[in-house]
Amino acid sequence: MATSASDKIYKIINARLLIDHKIVENSYLWFQNGKIIHPQNLFFNEMRDADEIIDAKGLLVVPGFIDTQINGAYGIDFADYEEPEEVLKANIDKVAKGLLKYGCTAFCPTVVSSDAAVYSKVLPLLNRRKGSAKGGAEILGAHVEGPFISEQKKGAHKPQVLRTAKNGIKDFDEAYGPELKKGSEAVSIITLAPEIEGVCDAIPDLVARGITVSMGHSSCRIADAEKAVTKGANDITHLFNAMPAFHHRDPGLIGILGAADLPIPEKSNRHPSPSQTSPDRTKPDPRPFYGIICDGVHVHPNSVRIAYYSHPSGAVLVTDTLSAMGLPKGEYVLGGCEIEVDEKGGAYLKGTRTLAGSTVTIDECIRNFQKFTNCPLVEALEAATLHPARLLGIDKQKGTLNVGGDADLVFLDDSTGEIQVKRVFVAGEEVEL
Ligand code: ZN
Repeated sequence: MATSASDKIYKIINARLLIDHKIVENSYLWFQNGKIIHPQNLFFNEMRDADEIIDAKGLLVVPGFIDTQINGAYGIDFADYEEPEEVLKANIDKVAKGLLKYGCTAFCPTVVSSDAAVYSKVLPLLNRRKGSAKGGAEILGAHVEGPFISEQKKGAHKPQVLRTAKNGIKDFDEAYGPELKKGSEAVSIITLAPEIEGVCDAIPDLVARGITVSMGHSSCRIADAEKAVTKGANDITHLFNAMPAFHHRDPGLIGILGAADLPIPEKSNRHPSPSQTSPDRTKPDPRPFYGIICDGVHVHPNSVRIAYYSHPSGAVLVTDTLSAMGLPKGEYVLGGCEIEVDEKGGAYLKGTRTLAGSTVTIDECIRNFQKFTNCPLVEALEAATLHPARLLGIDKQKGTLNVGGDADLVFLDDSTGEIQVKRVFVAGEEVEL
C-alpha cells in the first residue's frame, strides 16, 4: 500500500540520544506525523518498516530548545502594535522562522508592560500555534511581563502603565482583555511582583486557567515570595535582574532558592524534578524554577554558578532578547533609540558601550551555562529543554524524546566539548539551515 506523505515513518539511526537524563550511544529514534513513536506496534501490527532513514552520523540528538522569554529579534519587537495587522503577523513569522537555526523550536513571545489597547491588538496574534519548517518555531502563548510589577524595579518598562490589582483577577482581566480568559492558549506566562496590592490573591485564579505565574520586576521580601509560591507561582523571571541584590537578613526573591520549608507538591509536572539539594529527594521540588540570562553580561558567571549549585533542577535558560538580536553589523533605530550592532552581534546605544538589551541566542546560552557552572552537558541541555517544558506543564509533549512527544529535534556536534547546532527538525519537518 502506498504511504501518503504525512503518514511517512522516519527512523533516525547512528544517533546519540538524550533520554532519561543520560546520553544513550548508538541509538535510534522513530517518528511519524510530527510525533515520536514506538516502533514495536509497526512491526507487529502493521508489518511496516521506516519509509525514510535519517543517518545522524554519530551526532547528539536532543529535544528542541524552548525559550520562555524573548521580546523580539531581527528589528522586531512583539510589543510594537502600530503597524497594520498584516505587518505584525509577518513580523512574528519572521522571528519564529529565524529562531529555528539556533535550535529553538518553541518559544513564548514576550510583551513588556503595556496598556489595554496594545494587549488587545498584539495578544491575539501570539496565541499558541504549531511549529513547522516553513512557519517557524512553535508559539507557546505569550509571556506578559507586567503591568502588575514594581515601579522601583521596572527596568525599561513604562511607569505610566504599571498598576495594582485591588480587585484581584478582575483587574487582570481588565488589563489584558478577553485573551486572558483563554488561559495558556493565549497567555502562557505572567510576570508579576508579589508585593503589589491584590496580586497574590489573584495567583490561584491565574493558575486555574493554566497560566504559569512568574515572580519578577519586584522588590518583594522573602515572606511575599513564599506567599506567592504557596499560592501557585512556580517561576522567577530573569533571576538577579530587576530585583534587589541578595541581602542576608531578608534575602527577598533571590532567597527563595534557599527555602527549605515550602509545601512539597505530591505530584506536579510544573515543579522542578528532585535534585541533591531538594528538601525531599523523592518528590518534585517546591522551590520555583528561575529564568536566567546566560550571556555573561546580564548575570555574572559566578552568580549563574551560585544559582545552579543551590537549585540545579530549577534552571531555565532564557535569552530575553530585544529586537536587535539577529541583525547584521550596522546602525538602526529601534524603539525610538539609535542602536549600533557590532560584528559580534552585540547591540549598544549609539556612541556608547551601554547594552541595548540581550542579543544572545539559546544555543550560546547552553554553551555559556556549561562553561560558567562546569555542569555536565546533559544538565545544560535540560535547562533549555526539560526544565522549561516542566515549568509550562507541557513535558508530555516537549522537552524530552519520550514516545508520544513532539518530534522537535536538534542534532548537535559536541565533539569539541561545545555544542554546535547541525540539523533541526520541528514537528517532524527538517529545517533548511
Ligand atoms: Zn524583564
